[in-house]
Amino acid sequence: MVMVGTHALVTGGGTGIGKAIAEALAAQGVEVTICGRRIEALEAVAAGNTRIHALAADVTDEVSVAALYEKATAARGAFDIVVANAGMGSSAPAGRTSLDLWQQTLAVNLTGAFLTVRPAIDPMRKAGKGRIVFIASIAGLKGAPYISAYVASKHGVVGLTRALAAELAQTDITVNAVCPGYVETPMLERTVANILDKTGRDEAAARAAIAKDNPQGRIIAPQEVADTVMWLCGEGARSVNGQAIALSGGEV
Ligand code: NAP
Repeated sequence: MVMVGTHALVTGGGTGIGKAIAEALAAQGVEVTICGRRIEALEAVAAGNTRIHALAADVTDEVSVAALYEKATAARGAFDIVVANAGMGSSAPAGRTSLDLWQQTLAVNLTGAFLTVRPAIDPMRKAGKGRIVFIASIAGLKGAPYISAYVASKHGVVGLTRALAAELAQTDITVNAVCPGYVETPMLERTVANILDKTGRDEAAARAAIAKDNPQGRIIAPQEVADTVMWLCGEGARSVNGQAIALSGGEV
């Protein structure tokens, strides 16, 4: 596959979906900077791959993201691919969602996504090409109970995708969102643990209940999300712009 870029940023690249995306990009010859708050997780991924470079950064903190851009671009040039993947999710009934949980979820998932891509836009414009991909969620396309902050944040990410795509349509930069259903990652493990805790079900029953949301009756592999990102970052996807691509076995 011919990739559009030579230097990618993948936030949350130390675990789960971000790790799969970083490794897939590196396998195509792209230098990949990964970030997250926990440097050990990032370094463990980078240790296995000479094209992956670990830098600690908090996507909710403008200064931290600016420092990340400065270090990474000084070492390997401007980012021509940015994958805003870092995210969090916690459940609570809407009436018992604390302001803290609400603000934290929006700060990481929505403001963090905005802060992640903003510094890349002008350099990409200058270079005349680029790819921006947000890892949103099926929760960005439909509602679901007990995760109102998460659903609101991911709908916001889909809105941001559409706004940026419209603004950059005259350039060779595309902006898209990938919207997976449940994916086998540490985030899913926390969801399973929460179900066990709240319902007393066993793990197999909790996982079966999760898989049932997907009409194909399965939990998605991180590699499937990475494959979609690879396609979006390839030369052949230049007409795909402003899309929220559901990876959910037909859930929406
Ligand atoms: P994960 O393994 O928990 O990954 C989340 C990543 O985000 C971690 O590497 C975490 O690293 C990073 N992160 C969290 N807060 C951050 C912050 N403030 N600054 C920088 N990095 C931060 O779960 P995942 O499933 O791979 O999630 C990746 C994305 O996919 C998320 O946006 C999630 O909403 C989305 N998604 C997941 C599923 C699913 O079922 N798993 C489905 C749809 C969409 P640190 O903790 O080290 O900061």
